Amino acid sequence: MFKISKRPTIQEIHALYQTKKATPIQVVQFFYNRIKETNPKLNSFLRLTEDLASQQANNCQDILESGQTFESIIKQYPLFGIPYGIKDIILIEGLEFTSASNILKGYIAPYSSTVYNRINQSMGIVMGINNMDQFAMGSSGESSAYGTTKNPFDLTRTAGGSSSGGAASVASGQVVFSLGSDTGGSIRQPASFCDVVGLKPTYGLVSRWGVMPMASSFDQVGPFTNTVYDNLLVTRVLAGIDTNDQTTIESVDLIDQLEVIINKQNISHRHSTAVTKSIHPMRIGIPKEFYQPEGVDPSIYESLQDLLLQLKELGHKLIEIDLPLTKYAVAVYYMTMGVEVASNLERVDGIRYSKQESIYANQFTDHRSKYFGEEAKRRIMIGTYASSAGYYDAFYNQAQKVRELARLDFQKAFQKCDIMLTPTTPEFPFVLGTKTDDPLKMYLSDVFTCGINPVKIPGLTVPMGLLKNTQSELPLPAGCQLLAPELCEDRLYELGLEIEKIIKVKNLAV
Ligand code: GLN
Repeated sequence: MFKISKRPTIQEIHALYQTKKATPIQVVQFFYNRIKETNPKLNSFLRLTEDLASQQANNCQDILESGQTFESIIKQYPLFGIPYGIKDIILIEGLEFTSASNILKGYIAPYSSTVYNRINQSMGIVMGINNMDQFAMGSSGESSAYGTTKNPFDLTRTAGGSSSGGAASVASGQVVFSLGSDTGGSIRQPASFCDVVGLKPTYGLVSRWGVMPMASSFDQVGPFTNTVYDNLLVTRVLAGIDTNDQTTIESVDLIDQLEVIINKQNISHRHSTAVTKSIHPMRIGIPKEFYQPEGVDPSIYESLQDLLLQLKELGHKLIEIDLPLTKYAVAVYYMTMGVEVASNLERVDGIRYSKQESIYANQFTDHRSKYFGEEAKRRIMIGTYASSAGYYDAFYNQAQKVRELARLDFQKAFQKCDIMLTPTTPEFPFVLGTKTDDPLKMYLSDVFTCGINPVKIPGLTVPMGLLKNTQSELPLPAGCQLLAPELCEDRLYELGLEIEKIIKVKNLAV
């Protein structure tokens, strides 16, 4: 009988296939057993896709029996036979997608998203649809109409949001990776709360075709994984121009750079755990607005300082930088996002996209009042107000101006540094129920993540491990956030790989 670790990686599963210790069908069975055992507690999966998974596992089996070498198989299909989850807004043709809402209950996707097609062409195996905050609005998973996802490290606490199920399912080993979406932090924040790696790619690197929109000028799909290297592998598959999505951008140079890192890792570093001087010293920017001691939990602050010191010892340069507009990030994000949300959700009217009881046009309001959740309604109202005649200039236009100034601020700062390192969240995963009555408190959970989407740059959360803290007797996860200029994800992964090693060695020493 084969074994699979609690926090599996792509390489671990590939080794099972290569050494013929397990078949794709057995691996799928193993992960379904794990999901069925843990999901009643975690609620990270809303629906399983067992028929599709077994079909995809059979396709993998056929390829294994075709006589090709395993090396050539994974060269052609980098995610060959890897079980994964997908957020309830990333469409697969013929399956139900609800955006974790009641208003879309019974909606069957008429076509598949480009990201699903890409993973499918790489021979990944989809296991099910992950839970999330309704319409991707929320920071705790608590706005799902189908129950809250729990944090695998402490079931009384949030797994973060909105991609709560994706982060929790990877952290608990229900799948090897999962696809989430990030509009203001929904990959990076839950990744930080669940001790996993999560990327918000450069706006336009990954296609949004077939992904239900939240705020279209911010939304990006990205992966949750247990390791930085796995994250890179999945991003490599997702990235690239899509003729169906005119917001996708040319990224050939970045993809070449990602290939260089993949090849380097294949040859040498992957198995060595030794922390050595950096072969690629970087100028690491420390934006002081993200490091106000009163704005970050003391244990998270301390771990960051520790990490920065170690990075310095490895040869990196630490450079203090200013991002003065950071204090407006939450306001700019919530104004712009609200307006785009109100516009995007207009189409959800009960006639289209719905299997609820049939209604007539004059019953839109009743239908929307009945089936939209509280948070979705709140955002629609904020956005409608901010873009209404008389208020448009004061709110929406003003936010757009500050957004542009913030973009220039980041550009200027990136002349002084190659990459930035910040906390991902101001706090540890909080106890469920503690912020649901106070939306503003909930919104502040995104204070370090939501300013990044308006300026289009990529952000990667890398775990700093489980930390002792004053919030709980249990150690709790926290991540750091790496930021780079547009289309410089390669820098995020290079430094991320080093940080991962530092943390691993530190954990071994404890
Ligand atoms: N938590 C943020 C919000 O509620 C981010 C959402 C997201 O990234 N989808 O708006």
